[in-house]
Amino acid sequence: MAILIFFILHWYISLFFQSVFHHRYAAHNAFTMSKAWEKVFYIGCFLSQGSSYISANTYGIMHRLHHEHTDQEEDPHSPHFTRNAMHMMWVTRNNYLDIYTGKTPVADKYRKNLPSWVAFERLTHTFWMRALFVGIYIAIYALLATAWWQYLLLPLTITMGAFQGLCINWWAHRFGYENYKMDNTSKNILPVDLVFWGEAYHNNHHKNPGRQNNAVRWFELDPGYWSMRGLQKLGIIRMARSH
Ligand SMILES: [Zn+2]
Ligand SMILES: [Zn+2]
Repeated sequence: MAILIFFILHWYISLFFQSVFHHRYAAHNAFTMSKAWEKVFYIGCFLSQGSSYISANTYGIMHRLHHEHTDQEEDPHSPHFTRNAMHMMWVTRNNYLDIYTGKTPVADKYRKNLPSWVAFERLTHTFWMRALFVGIYIAIYALLATAWWQYLLLPLTITMGAFQGLCINWWAHRFGYENYKMDNTSKNILPVDLVFWGEAYHNNHHKNPGRQNNAVRWFELDPGYWSMRGLQKLGIIRMARSH
C-alpha cells in the first residue's frame, strides 16, 4: 500500500512539473515568473523527476518543433514515424540528447523566451545523478514494497518523466476523440482527465496552443489550468494576457 501511495504522489508531482513548467511555461510561455521562482521550479522539477529529469530548455525546443512539424518526419516524437511506443521512446530520447548537447542545430526562432540554468544542469543532468536516483528508488522500494508485483512499478518510477511524455505524445496522436477537425492526428485521450493534469486534451491544445485552459466542453477539466490560477493568486506567476 505504501508503495502505491508513493507511486501515485510521484506520478502527480512529476507530471505537475512537466505540464505546468515544461509544457505551459517553457514551451508556450503561458505565464511569466521571476528568475528566483524559475529556479524553484527547476529544483522541484529535478527532485520530482529524479533519474528521468528533463531539461525545461530542451523540452521547450522539442515541443515547439513538435507543434511546427506535427506528424511529419521532422516531428521529434511522432508515432507515425516510429514502429511502436518503445521505439518512439528511444527515438525521442536520442533526439532530446542531440538537441541538449547541441549536436542538432536549432533555429533561433525555437529558442525565444526559454528558461535556462546551465550551471544547475551541469550538476543534475548527468549519468551519475541519474544513477544516484535509481539507487534511491530501489532503496524506497526495498523499504516499502510488501509484495513482489509492486516491483513492476519500479521501471516506471525510474523513467517517470519520459514515460509521462510518451503517454501523451504517443497515445494522443493515435487514439481518442476530436473536438476539432485538424490537419494533424491530435486527439483528446480522456473525456475526464484525472490522470494527466489536463494534458489529455491534446486535440484542444493543438487547435489553440496559446490557450491556457485545455478544457473546452462541459465535462472536460484541466487541473494544470487550475494550478496556474492558484499560483497566480499566490503571486508566484503572472498569466500572459494574450491568452
Ligand atoms: Zn501533439
Ligand atoms: Zn504544446
